[in-house]
Order: sequence, then C-alpha cells, then structure tokens
Amino acid sequence: MTAHETDKYVYDFAEGNRDLKDLLGGKGANLAEMTNLGLPVPPGFTITTEACKAYLATGREPDGLAGQIEAHLEALEREMGRRLGDPDDPLLVSVRSGARFSMPGMMETVLNVGLNDHSVVGLARQASGSAGPAASGGSADPAASGGNDRFAWDSYRRLIQMFGKTVCEVPGEEFEHALDEAKRAKGSTDDLDLDADDLRGLVEAYKKIFAEHTGREFPQEPREQLDLAIRAVFESWNAERAILYRRQERIPADLGTAVNVVTMVFGNLGPDSGTGVAFTRDPGSGAQGIYGDYLANAQGEDVVAGIRNTVPLQELEQLDPKSYHQLLDIMARLEGHYQDLCDIEFTIERGKLWMLQTRVGKRTAAAAFVIAGQLVDEGLIDLDEALHRVNGAQLAQLMFPRFQLDHEIPPVARGIGASPGAASGTVVFTSARAVELAAEGRSVILVRRETNPDDLNGMIAAQGILTSRGGKTSHAAVVARGMGKTCVSGADEIEVNVPAKRFTVGGHTVGEGDVISIDGTTGKVYLGEVPVMPSEVVQYFEGSLDPAHIDNALVRAVHRIMTHADDRRRLAVRTNADTGADAARARRFGAEGIGLCRTEHMFLGDRRELVERLILAATDADRTDALAALLPLQRQDFVEIFREMDGLPVTVRLIDPPLHEFLPPLEQLAVNVAVAQERGEDVAKEEALLAAVRRMHEENPMLGLRGVRLGLVIPGLFAMQVRAITEAAVAVTRDGGAARPEIMVPLVGAVQELETVRTEAEKIIAEVVGDSGVEVLIGTMIEVPRAALTAGQIAEAAQFFSFGTNDLTQMGWGFSRDDVEGAFFWRYLELGIFGISPFESIDRDGVGRLIRIAAEEGRAARPGLKLGVCGEHGGDPDSVHFFHEVGLDYVSCSPFRVPVARLEAGRAAIETTGSDSR
Ligand code: ADP
Ligand code: MG
Ligand code: MG
Repeated sequence: MTAHETDKYVYDFAEGNRDLKDLLGGKGANLAEMTNLGLPVPPGFTITTEACKAYLATGREPDGLAGQIEAHLEALEREMGRRLGDPDDPLLVSVRSGARFSMPGMMETVLNVGLNDHSVVGLARQASGSAGPAASGGSADPAASGGNDRFAWDSYRRLIQMFGKTVCEVPGEEFEHALDEAKRAKGSTDDLDLDADDLRGLVEAYKKIFAEHTGREFPQEPREQLDLAIRAVFESWNAERAILYRRQERIPADLGTAVNVVTMVFGNLGPDSGTGVAFTRDPGSGAQGIYGDYLANAQGEDVVAGIRNTVPLQELEQLDPKSYHQLLDIMARLEGHYQDLCDIEFTIERGKLWMLQTRVGKRTAAAAFVIAGQLVDEGLIDLDEALHRVNGAQLAQLMFPRFQLDHEIPPVARGIGASPGAASGTVVFTSARAVELAAEGRSVILVRRETNPDDLNGMIAAQGILTSRGGKTSHAAVVARGMGKTCVSGADEIEVNVPAKRFTVGGHTVGEGDVISIDGTTGKVYLGEVPVMPSEVVQYFEGSLDPAHIDNALVRAVHRIMTHADDRRRLAVRTNADTGADAARARRFGAEGIGLCRTEHMFLGDRRELVERLILAATDADRTDALAALLPLQRQDFVEIFREMDGLPVTVRLIDPPLHEFLPPLEQLAVNVAVAQERGEDVAKEEALLAAVRRMHEENPMLGLRGVRLGLVIPGLFAMQVRAITEAAVAVTRDGGAARPEIMVPLVGAVQELETVRTEAEKIIAEVVGDSGVEVLIGTMIEVPRAALTAGQIAEAAQFFSFGTNDLTQMGWGFSRDDVEGAFFWRYLELGIFGISPFESIDRDGVGRLIRIAAEEGRAARPGLKLGVCGEHGGDPDSVHFFHEVGLDYVSCSPFRVPVARLEAGRAAIETTGSDSR
C-alpha cells in the first residue's frame, strides 16, 4: 500500500464541539463543548466513531490511528507534566465509550489506566501532595498523607477488576468474591474498613484471578493497557446486550462508538473529595430546582453500583460550600447554553470541582411539557421550539389514567412498559378463567410466562396483561397495544407457575384471586390494589379544568403548546364518531368535524328485526316496507350528530359490512331450528333465516358482498340512507342549525361503481333539499388498491376522497388483520420485516405510495379535490407527518386521539417550514 494522508481519527477536547456527535459521540462532543466554554474538564481526547467503524470492519486498528493516539497522548503528558504510568509521578486516564445516542450501561468504561506494580507507589506518594494528582506539581501536605497508600492500592485493585472484566472477560463475580473474602477476614461489610495492607493483598488475589482466566499476567505496560482498553470499547459496540438494546430502541447498528481518554481525577482521596450526578431540573415533574445525589470519598462507579448510600446534592452545601456554589453556577450556565434540561456527572478532588459529563437529560412525558413551557417563559426558546420538543406519544401517555401514589409504594417487580395505562385486578392464569371472571363483572389481570394466539379471548376479557418473558415486540406487547390494553411484559423476576395457579416474586407468593396492579407506562408491578386517578390532561380537554385558573404547571404547559400547534398546523383534524355523544366529546377535544360516521350500528339492537325483514323480503313491496320502517330511525340518528357538529362537516359512510353480519350465526340458528322442530313448534321464520344465512355464507367476507357492492345489489338500500341523511340535514338547517353532510361510498374500486350510486343519489338529494340551502357532497373512500391506481378516473365522479388506511393496508399487504396480528406479527417484528405493525403506523413505502399516487392523480383530474384519511393511522404520530407531507387536507381519528393528531400536525408544519425547499 502506498503512503497516503490518513484520516483524522483523534480530536483533542479543545478541537471538538457539541455539533460533532456523529463523529465524537455524545459524551465526547459534550466534553469538548464544556472545555471550550472554559469549564473545568479534565484534559483528554476523543477517538472517533470512524476509527471504531474501520476497526470493526477490518478487525484491526486503521492506519495512522496508533500514531495519532501517540501524538495526542504526548501532548496530554506535556500539559499535565506527567507521563502515563510513570513510576514516580504517574498520569492516569479513564477510557470511556460514548456513542451518538446514549446507551446507558450498555458499553464499557475503564478507570485508572496507567497503574502497575511500580506506579502504584508513585501514586501513593503523589497523592500526598495537597493539590492532588490532577493538578501539576503541588507541595507536600503532611496532614493529608495518612490514607494515601490505601487510596493508591484501592485504585489499583479497581483497575484490575474493571480491566479484567470489561477488557478480558474475566467473570466479575470472581473479583466480587475475593473482595467479600477480604472484608470477611476483616470482620466488616464496608470497603472503607480495608486498609492499605488489605488492599495490597487483594491486588495479589486479583492478579491471580486475572492470570487464571486469561492465561497471562496482568499487563504492566501502561501503553498496552491503554490500547487494549480502547480496543475493548470498540468491540463493546457489538456486544450482545448492546445489539439487543439498539434493536429495542431502534438505534441504527452501523454508527459505532467513540472512545474518550480522560485524565483521571479522584473523588476517593478522603472526606474533602467525592462524586455525584445532578439534573438542572426535576426530570420527573419538570419542577425547577437542583436534583442530584452526592457521595463523599468515592469514585463515580460507586454511585451507580449503589454500594454506599448517597446523600441529596443539597447537603454538599454544608460539606463544601465553595464547590457547591461553583456547581450551581455551572449548571445554570449549561442550561443557558444548551437551552434545555441537562444532566451532569462531576467529581470533587480535594475541594476542586471537575466536570466529567453533561448531556441534554432524559425526562418523563409530563416533565417534557412542563420544561418546554418554562423555557419559553424564561425566554430561552420560542414556541416553535417548545412544540418541537414534545410529541404525540408523550401526550398520549399523559391522557391515560395513572396510579395515585401519595408516597412511592415499592413495586415487587419491574418489567417493560409494553402498552400504557394503569390496571388493577384479580390475578388469573388462564384465558378461560379470565373470560369467566370478567363475565361476572370482575376486573382481572392475566398473568402468563408469555402469551400466544390461544390467549386472545383472555386478553380481550382482561383489564391488563402481565408476562414474565418477552420484550416490546412480544406477542403480548403487540396484541395489547393493538387493543389499547395495559400490558407489562418481560417482568423476569416473576416465576409463573400456571398449573399451580400462582406466581412468586421476591419472597411473595401470589395466587389466583389475589389482587395486583400493573403500570404499563413504567413497567412496575405492585401487590394489592393501587387507586387509579383520572388524567388531568383529559380533564382539561374535557373542559373541566380551566388552564387560566388552576395551579397545575402541566395543564398550563399543555394548553399553551396545543394552542400553538393549532396556530401552526395546516392539516385539519376530524374525528371518527357514530353517535351524538361521541361527536360531542370529540368536539371538546378539538375535532373540526367528523371524518367517518359509520352507519352499521344503526342496524343493530332492536332494529335487527327490520334488517331481517329486509334480507328475507320476498317481493319488492316487502323490501320497500322494511326500508321505509328503517328510514325514520336512521334520520333521527343523523339529526343528533348534525346538531352536535353544528357548522362542521360530517362524513357519513353508507353501510359497509356484509349484511349477514346482522343475522345470528349459522350454528346457533341451526340448533334453534332443530330444537324447535323437535318440540313441534312453528319454525317457518327460523328456517327462512337459516336458508338466508346459508345462501349468504362467504369464504372471505372481507372480500365479498359488502360496501358499494351491497348498494348495487340490494335495491333501495343506499337510496334509503341517502334520503335519511339529506332529510336530517334539511331538518337541522330549518331549525336554524347548519348541517354539512358529506356522503361517502365505501369499497369503490372502479369509477363506474361510484357513478351508478351517484346518479341515483343526486336525484334524491335534489328532490329533498329543495330550497333549504343545504349542500350535500358525494365522495368515496379510497381503500381498494385499484381505486388508488385509477384515482384520476374516480376523481371525475367524486367530490372528495377519504383514504381508508385500515383496508388499504389489509388489501395492500394481503393481510387479514384479525388473523395476522395475533398469529405471526411478533415474528415479522423480530425478523425486522417491518419495524412497527403497518396497522399501527402507515407503511410509507407501499401503502403510502398508493396514497401519494391517488392524491396526485386525483388532484390532477379535479383541482381542489378534498383529501382526508380515516382509520386508525389518522391518530398515529408518524403517520400524521406523512399525511402532512403528502398534502392531505385533514386526518380523522378516534376522539381520544384528536389532541395527539392536533399536536403532531403542528409539529409536522414547523418541521417542514424549518427545512422548506419546495
Ligand atoms: P457511563 O456512560 O456508564 O456513565 P462513564 O464513561 O461516564 O460511563 O464513566 C463511568 C463512571 O466513571 C462515571 O461515574 C464517571 O463519572 C467516572 N469517570 C469516568 N472518567 C473519569 C475520570 N477521568 N476521572 C474520574 N472519574 C471518572
Ligand atoms: Mg458505561
Ligand atoms: Mg456517565
């Protein structure tokens, strides 16, 4: 290979900044940013993600990397006035992973690199200097020298332990055992009781463990330690747990991790040293104030490991007021700089504060809204930015009822929050028992190791589902989300014993009949019944909380951001509602009309008899009679809905399901007939029904006689509905209201179908409307792929299109939704065939393409053609962004999803303005 200029693989902290996260990882980019702000960051450098990717691709360090590390290390040694692992006065470093997206606990860190049998002595001597090891030079302070042998040997044993475990895969328990042994010999349970001699002995024991497991001595050469640790961090990117975590969080697999090499500072040098973590606001509620934990005389990993109890950060004010106030200043600066909640890691070494990490902190859904609102108040961000920082998934979470926990009750187990909500109920272990108890009106929680398609009925009957195995894409999780049911999956501390009808967890045994509570948002499981309280956010949307007069930061923030989303959005938001009551509620939630009013339910209940008469009609006259009897009932339904939606458009879909769905099931009828015949009763009517059901039986009802096909086959059916809708609109309008009906024909695949229906409908409308001034639009659903592909023709006959994305997805993929979701979607998700069910979030590439084609060709044929979407995708955040991009006029979704769609439509609008290139 010829010599060529190699890439730059190593950046000094002073060379980077926070925008270089792709290259330097989050930790490295933010260490650089803090360095350049002049904050006290221990000097160091970052090896790029590019170097990691090159290493992972070829199995060896890329050309030039070793030399660049050498150069940066030398510069660091010059700056610190010490050499790595120098026996007299060693420089020590930490080697820390840091990827583009934070993957907590997934990857490796090694502290105290540079210690060996010689430099441990130098470290002890150096630590006697009053300024401590991180400052160059420093005079001896006799008073402080007492514990320094101890400190040095403690640091050395930590290095062997971390290095052994993370770099050489020595089982961590081996070291833990040896440590416990040393403490037992001392008659103590606290690390701090081990003195220098004990720790020196422990180092010997650790070295033996290391040699036994690796077949070599613990490396004494500091530079070799460094290189091996860097390599281990590279490799940790592909560790199994990291791969699983990325899949779970949908983090791309090819980003690689950066490696940060950071001068060590020591929080374990005595009582005037320590380490801590802090948030600039409460990440739980968003409340302003200082939130954090501090641990005196400790290194950072002790805080995480929970070996000793931390104290609230506020106590640092007593212990070290100077560092405390400096820390508060720095936190305020970081917030101002990042314009967001930050979390930080810091260490105090003998009264000197060092910043070891910062990033924009994770937060709960409630805190996200509250903080965004506060930052607007503080003038740090504008409302667009606030809107950008929250999302529909968070809002949806806030609309679920929550457990009322006055004081934190300890959960008995914690799994994955697989489907949000809060549920309490009696434990059952089988689907059959769930169905039985639910039928008695009891609230039940179905507990299983994992669920399978046989559990479907039990899952429907249960209030919540708890499994001890499986993640966010397990059968239980996928099906529960589809049903909107609370689910905690993968609570692996729970031992489920179905035959014995009990489970055990942490020493408790819970049997059938006992009550538990599960939180599908946090994944927590509680024994007993925890009271559930309604969502304040829902109360606000319902209009029972006035944001101007209540002392609730969350509701105020939601109100403010929602108002802004409404100002910004271009998409209108309608609702799917079949009754006046649903329409009224959706209107309070902000719906601007009805996008889908199904007429099916108007054929149920006590109206079944009329439907039977219709189906069994032997003559035209019989059928006309049945329809005439249905007409006033239908009209009254529409009157109620038009009143509630006064002034707003209401899209009514003509009847869609196969008519035999309104008749009793075949088996039941057959039994009834047989029994009645046995008794010698008159069964003429039942026999006729049975014959009709047999005649109308279909192998694939979803693809059979339904939708527009019914209207073309059964004379007078659609005409009756059109008349009922129009008469209702005229009646409401004559009463001083404003009805805006839009009649929608389902399942159209060809323009000829729609034209036939329209010709008949227009005659009726013209006759009924008279001089009332009512205007009735006629349009179609686009839910059959052929309709999408011939949209140019169909638009000639349609005044609007409404995309029925559920059917379009079913027919686009050839999936029967009721069959596939429970049967095998978990496998498809596991294999990554799709990242999310196409029924949950629109499949942009396939089904989305059909929508694009139909929108473009429809509008080309009829400029200004009104385009909307009904179906559950209308309330899904990512799908809403897609519908915005395609240029639809509105989305329609269930009442509860209306606020989510409003918010996301606003976010979609600001995101496209931000990068508008059209
Ligand atoms: P994680 O990403 O798991 O938080 P870190 O790289 O931040 O891992 O390091 C783990 C712990 O070690 C942290 O508590 C951190 O504060 C501490 N630590 C890392 N580097 C140093 C250093 N140079 N000096 C002192 N403590 C350090
Ligand atoms: Mg780590
Ligand atoms: Mg950290």
